[in-house]
Formats: sequence, structure tokens, C-alpha cells
Amino acid sequence: MKKYQHYIDGAWRDPLSGVWFETFDPYRGEAWALMPRGNGADVDAAVEAAHRAFATGDWPALTPTQRGALLRRLADLIGEHAEELSAIEVRDVGKRTAESLPQIQYLPQSFYYYAGLADKIAGTVVPLDRHDVFNFTRHEPLGVIAAILPWNSPLMLTAWKLAPALAAGNTVVLKPSEHGSASVLELMRLVERAGFPKGVVNVVTGFGAETGGLLTVHPKVAKISFTGSESSGRRIAETAARDLKRVTLELGGKSPQIVFPDADLDDAAHGVMAGIFASNGQSCVAGSRLLLQNAIHDQFVDKLIGQMRGLRMGDPADPRTQIGPIANKPQFDKIIDYIGIAKSEGATCVLGGRAARHNTGGWFVEPTIFTGVSNAMRIAREEVFGPVLAVMRFGNEDEAVNIANDTCYGLAAGAWTGDHRRALSLSRRLAAGTVYLNHYRSVSTLSPVGGYKHSGYGRENGVEGMMAYLQTKSVWMGTADIPNPFPPAK
Ligand code: NAD
Repeated sequence: MKKYQHYIDGAWRDPLSGVWFETFDPYRGEAWALMPRGNGADVDAAVEAAHRAFATGDWPALTPTQRGALLRRLADLIGEHAEELSAIEVRDVGKRTAESLPQIQYLPQSFYYYAGLADKIAGTVVPLDRHDVFNFTRHEPLGVIAAILPWNSPLMLTAWKLAPALAAGNTVVLKPSEHGSASVLELMRLVERAGFPKGVVNVVTGFGAETGGLLTVHPKVAKISFTGSESSGRRIAETAARDLKRVTLELGGKSPQIVFPDADLDDAAHGVMAGIFASNGQSCVAGSRLLLQNAIHDQFVDKLIGQMRGLRMGDPADPRTQIGPIANKPQFDKIIDYIGIAKSEGATCVLGGRAARHNTGGWFVEPTIFTGVSNAMRIAREEVFGPVLAVMRFGNEDEAVNIANDTCYGLAAGAWTGDHRRALSLSRRLAAGTVYLNHYRSVSTLSPVGGYKHSGYGRENGVEGMMAYLQTKSVWMGTADIPNPFPPAK
């Protein structure tokens, strides 16, 4: 079985813990590789290396333009090796090649974008209200960034953190998920080839509260950039508050999709299906609550069922596969539990509703739709992170907005309507960090992404995504004689 190592201080190292753990192929339900189980000594070695690289040596000596050139080289290498990286991710987290490959082929864009931005975030000369001093601002990096990742799109979410953090001049310790570390470690071979100085990028693997927890409390970590569940985010925010560390939280969601009768219902059906069943609902912006206007409820549900029935389920590596496995066993168990909860709450299962039989031993769940859901039910309030759609009815637009916003989350919301005035008004009324109008699920390096309410704080991507890794310094410079502050008494 393949045995991975940590990547620390520019070298591949066995874990100082001396312990490895198994990572599973979700299509076959069997272990396929061993990952190092990082302990305190591993975390310390990674943070110390990142801290040294930040403070001394080649990295801080580079100009922003030179940092940009390194990022561009890494982007080129990722583009050349996209198929290999994708194949590893498909094996490790079961994402279908049909989704994984385009996602990884797009990754270089994050690095090109921030490479270009590296030498364009300028300070300002402040037009002061006096003439005896000159004042300007500089934007400076923070130091060591602890980047903690979930398993659903390991490389894409790595790029969202790594590219802006490096462009800004920080150094990074990545802690991928215990269910999705392989592709992040493979990326380090390209980081090495691109020529980053040692210690600038490091990876330690291991479990959440253990390895991740040790990383978040390390005194030399300046900022925690976290993507994951609401419950882990809460714990990390508490830790960050105690140590006064900066923190960005990209957390979960329970995103509504609202369909009005005047929408193009074919487009809407495709958008709703992509929103919840692409990636098996294991997407932070999954449109897991569907709000249908009474007049189209039955017709629209029938349309969805018709299109979802008989999709080809199977090997995620086969480009023809339409439904792949759930990424890991704990997530599979959680989804099955939620299906049981929805049934016991009285929701009506009109599609799927059980584990799919599959002869490979992998973790498959049938795409599942529940109707007759009320927004008070747990299936409408809690994030399942699986292929389970909760359908609700509404009468008018105000009611739809009230139901849509009646959630502790606020990551994304979608609306389908042929009325452009209504669409624009909904973009204001829907309380979410991303609003999709007659469209769903796009993300881009260029546009900020992040949550309202319990879906987190801070933004990734776009210019804001880089500002999150900078701090502002105000510099004062005298331009006139300095008067004696204590002139002799007259
Ligand atoms: P998770 O919270 O279980 O784990 C995420 C990461 O945090 C893992 O690396 C884990 O090891 C680590 N971790 C867990 N507890 C920790 C602790 N106490 N201290 C430090 N690290 C800790 O989440 P998951 O199951 O891996 O991912 C799914 C979640 O991620 C979903 O809620 C999903 O919505 C969310 N997500 C959000 C976005 C976004 O951009 N908002 C994107 C993708 C996924």
C-alpha cells in the first residue's frame, strides 16, 4: 500500500509520531494508502520551518513580482499535471472524474490571478491634515498561516488559501482532512519543482482535534484559515479568540433554491439537480432546500424525479459515471441517519431514500427527494452534506423569502424567475454570501465567496481573498524641525 510522508521544511519526512493511518477508496470501501498521523512534534516542526522561512532566508528577500513569478511557475506545473492530480483525488474522495478534472484544470487560474495581484496591492499616501509629517501605508503579510481543509474538494480549497497567502508573502502550513490528504501531498511535488524556498509551504496530515487542534494553538501561527463544518468552526473561533489569532471561517450551509412559476422550468430543474446532486450534495453551496410555488409544485417534482431516475451510478474514475460514491464512511453513515430522521419527522420520500446496492463494496446513496417538508424539520434546518433534497411549498414571494432566510446559515441562495425586477429585488432580500439568479453553483477565482450568519466570516477569492492575508501598517516620517515638547516656561 502506498505510504505517504509529511512535507516539512522542503523535505519528505516520516511522522515523528511514528504512526500512520489508513485512507480509503470510497468506490471500493477499502484502504488504499497510509497517511502520517501528525502529533505535536510534527506540527511544531512544520510551524517552526514556516516561521523560519517567513523571518529569514530567501522568501522575505523576494520582491512581490518575484513571488508572482513563482506562483505562475506552480500554476503551469498544475496545468501540466492536472490529470494525475485529478486521478489521485478521484481515488481518495470519490469525486467523479467528470467533475474533478475540470475543477483541477481550472486551479492554475487561482495561482495566475494572485500571481498578477502580488505586486498590485499598493499602500496609499495619506493626504494628512498637516505639513510637518509625511504618512503612507504598507500592506504586510501576517506570518505563518494554518490552512485547515475539508475533504470535499481538497485541491480547489487548497488553491483558494495557498495562492493568496503566498502572493501576500506569508508562509503556510496546510492540514488537509483525514479523509482527503493524498492530492494535497501530491501537490507538494509541484511546489518543490516550482522552486519555492524550503519551509514556505508545509503539509502535516492527521485528525481534526488532534493534529488540527495542535496547529491552531501553536503560538507561532498568526492566522487560521479554516474551511469545514460549523461545529469545528465554532471550536476554532474559540481557540482563535483565546490566543487573539486572526481567523477566517468558511463553514456549512442549508441553501435554498426558490422556483417561481414564471421561470424557465427546464433550466430551473437542471440548476436544482446540479445544486444538490452534483458531487452527491457534498458541496458547501449545495441547494438542499427547494422552495416551490404551489402552482408548480407537483409538476416540478415530477420533472426532477423523471430526470434523476436511472442515472448511471458507478466508478468515479469512469467519465461516463453520473453518480459516484459518498466520499467516506462517516459521511455515508451521517447521510443514512438523516434520511431516517426525515422519514421519522413525517416527510414523504418520493425518490431514493436508501443506500444504493453496489457490488464494489463502496459507499453509495441513492439520490433522494423528500416532499411535505416543513422548515421546522431537522431535514430543513441541518446540513446533511449529501444527495438529499428537502422540498417545501410557498404561496407568494414574501413567504418564499421568509422561509429561505429562516435558517442559521447563509452561504448561498438561488432564485429562478422570468421577472428581472423580481430577480434583482431577491438579490437584495436573500440573506446569503452568494446569490444565484437563474443560475446555480458557479464559483470563480475572481469573485469573493463566503458566508452570512453561521456560514462563517471572511471572504476567499477575488481581491478580498488576498487582503485577508495582509495587515496594514501606517508609516509616519517627519518633514520639518521637531519642536521641543517641553519648551522652557516663560
Ligand atoms: P470538519 O469540520 O469535520 O473538518 C474540516 C477540517 O478541520 C479537517 O481537516 C479536520 O481534520 C479539521 N478539524 C476538525 N476539528 C478540528 C479542530 N477542533 N481543530 C482544528 N482542526 C479541526 O468538516 P468536513 O466534514 O471535513 O467538511 C465538510 C464541511 O465543510 C461541511 O460543513 C461543508 O459545508 C464545509 N465546507 C465549506 C466550504 C465553504 O467554502 N464555506 C467549502 C467546502 C466545505
